[in-house]
Parts: sequence; structure tokens; C-alpha cells
Amino acid sequence: MTSPALSRPSLPRDLLRACVHCGLCLPTCPTYDLLGDERDSPRGRLFQMKAAADGVVALDDPSLRRHLDRCLGCRACETACPSGVRFGRALEEVRAALPPPSLQATIIGALVLDGLFASPPLLDAAGRALRAYHRLGLGRAARKAGLFSRVSPRLGSMEALLPAPQPFRPLPVRIPPYGERRARVGLITGCVMRQLFSATHAATARVLAANGAAVITPSGQGCCGALHLHGGHRTMARTLARRMIDTFPEDLDAIIVNAAGCGSTLKEYGHLLADDQLYAERAARFASRVRDVSEWLDQVGLRPPTVPVPMTATYQDACHLRHAQGIHEAPRRLLRATPGIELVELAGASECCGSAGIYNITQPELAGQLLSQKIDRIAATGARCLAVGNPGCAIQIASGLRARGIRMAVVHPVELLDRAYGRERIPGY
Ligand code: SF4
Ligand code: SF4
Repeated sequence: MTSPALSRPSLPRDLLRACVHCGLCLPTCPTYDLLGDERDSPRGRLFQMKAAADGVVALDDPSLRRHLDRCLGCRACETACPSGVRFGRALEEVRAALPPPSLQATIIGALVLDGLFASPPLLDAAGRALRAYHRLGLGRAARKAGLFSRVSPRLGSMEALLPAPQPFRPLPVRIPPYGERRARVGLITGCVMRQLFSATHAATARVLAANGAAVITPSGQGCCGALHLHGGHRTMARTLARRMIDTFPEDLDAIIVNAAGCGSTLKEYGHLLADDQLYAERAARFASRVRDVSEWLDQVGLRPPTVPVPMTATYQDACHLRHAQGIHEAPRRLLRATPGIELVELAGASECCGSAGIYNITQPELAGQLLSQKIDRIAATGARCLAVGNPGCAIQIASGLRARGIRMAVVHPVELLDRAYGRERIPGY
């Protein structure tokens, strides 16, 4: 019988062949560290993916699926790899070629990823519902009545992840620069960030304006497709990428993003749409202008903030900033430039917190172990505040701190900078 792998020319054989099996990535892999199984290491996963590409293992092999599902997609192995193996890209392409694991997963994928996340009006409605749920204290009431433990403990642990949404305030389409104009930039608002982290977006826009940027925030941008791409829903990721490209003017100096997971996907648009005759060029141009907010501020040179923010803070590297985009020092430099902030380094700051997109929902036990280690280390810093540049990490870490009863603010680095600029100084917003 012909293996399904042989009829799948889209499997990234070249990427998979780049691994020379040296094993230097193994000590950096969180799942190998937890499970001690070669099949849950980067080298082992590459070996299994190559076996699938060569037709030795069928694409519906349960073991292949299990070990790939356990991968966080954190890309710590890429940072460690001396041979430049592009593990993240290989994983995304192989995941896209795997058959759906179950009818249930197909239905959930269609409803949530292809339905809810692809539709800005539906996302707005979901955001309104979530804010009402929090305002009315429905979660607290359900927990008190023991509803989750009776109906679905799994749903209960997912509910425990939910953060209190920040007050919703959509950004104006145009925000003028403060002082001399240095650039005209677009701001990505995305899906989860727009609904839950409205105040972080406002802080980002103000910090950009304080640094001389005219900020354009087109409405109707929607989701960038990161969740889809990381989960193997490549067709929908491409559709969302086209919409995102259409939404932004072509003459912007930069396109700014404050969510690491989205930033790494936006920077991949050129590759994602490389075979699209209409979009390939525009996608490559778009991707070349994408900057994480910390990266852009660091590149253009920060206008010195002057209002002290007296606080001990620590910093967690979001995997998709540190490993997928190679951004490590820029956010630390911004924090050190914030007057009053004393930055305490976090042990293992570049190790995954277990959030990893929806990993904390699909692999709750492994995610819980990683989170527990992370919270121990955060608590050991004695800091009053943790800064992190990705909403998934912020949600995951905040839930871990809540569960331990540790009172510590979890913020985006730009929120601290925003306070240091003094909000009243920025006109227009
Ligand atoms: S992406 Fe992360 S979890 Fe997956 S193999 Fe690489 S280091 Fe391990
Ligand atoms: S992925 Fe890189 S570091 Fe890991 S075994 Fe292969 S070549 Fe070595």
C-alpha cells in the first residue's frame, strides 16, 4: 500500500534533511527535559517528520501525532542549532499535512479558528460577551457553586486561565506624533490583543507617538493567522494574511506589533504567500516592514522618558520574540532606560512558560509543569512586576501567579515606558 506521505509533495524534505543529528539542541528542549524521551526532543521529532516525508511512517500514525502534538513550537531548538535547522517552519508545514485527529477537532477547528477567529464582528461579539461575563462575576459564581467540577473540570481549568479583560477602548485610526515626526507606522491590533489588552494597545500607541511616530491603526484588520499557522491550518492562515496585507497602506515606514506570536507570523508572510501570484511581492514587502515594538524603538533610538516608575521588575522572554525573531536585548534595554525601574534577571527567562498558543489547553499537564517551574523562578526574583511581550505568556503567567496567591503585576514592557513618558504629555490620545 502506498503511504499517504508519498502523495504529499508539500512536506518540507529540504528543511528536514538539514539536521545532522548532533543533539546540541536537546538540553534546550522543554519537553525533552520533562519527558526524557528522544521522540519528544527536536532531533527525535525531526527524525519522525523525515520518516513521514520519506513514506516510512504514515501521516496518520498515532505516535507521530502524539510526539508532534507535545511540541510547544517554542523554537528554543532553533536558537541552539549550529546547523540553522528551521524547526518551526518544518513543524508548521508537517502539521498542515497531517489529517485531522478526530471529528471533534475538525468541528472545533471550523467553529473557532475558521469561524470565530476569522471574523472581526464575531470576535467583537465574543469580546463583549467575555467582558460581561467578568463584570457580572459569572465565573466566580460558577466556581463557588462547584459547577465546573461537576460538569467539566477541563472547562474549569480553561476558565481559570481567563484574565480580567482590560477596559475596551478602540484606538483612533490616526494618532499624531508628539514633537517632530520621525516616521509613519501602522499598528497591528490583532484578535486576542484587541479584545483583552486594549490598554496595552493604547500604551503602545502613546509610546510610539512619544517617539515621533504618526500611528495608523486601520479598522477591520482581524486576526493575523498565527494561531492557524502554528496549528497547521495553513489555508486559513493564508486567507487572513491576504486580508491583513490589504488593510494596511503600502507606504508606511514600519508595521508595529506588540504580540510576539503575531510578530513572528507577520514576518513570515513572504514565505507563506510565496506561491501566490497576486500577493507574493506585496507579502514580502509587508513582512520586511514588520517590527516588534521593542525592536523598532531600539532601532530608531528611544526619546528618553523622564517620569520615574519606581519598581523592581523582571522580564520573561516570549519564545516567539527570543527564538523565532531573535529579539533578546532590545526589550531589556527599554526597561533599563525606564527611569526608576530596577531590572532583576529571571533565571531561565528564555524557557517557555507553557502557554505556546493553545498548548495550555491541549496539553494541560505538561503546560502546568512548565508554568509551575516558571512561577517558582519568578517568585525567587522578589520583583513586584513581570514584563513580557506576548499576550499568551501574560495570560498563562498571570493565571499561575493567581493560583499561588502571588500578587505581582504582569505587564507589557511598553506599559512601563508609557508611564515613564507621562500620559498627559501626548496629545490626541
Ligand atoms: S520547538 Fe520547543 S518543544 Fe518543540 S522540539 Fe523545539 S525546543 Fe522542543
Ligand atoms: S536540530 Fe540542529 S542542533 Fe538539533 S540535532 Fe539537528 S542539527 Fe543538531
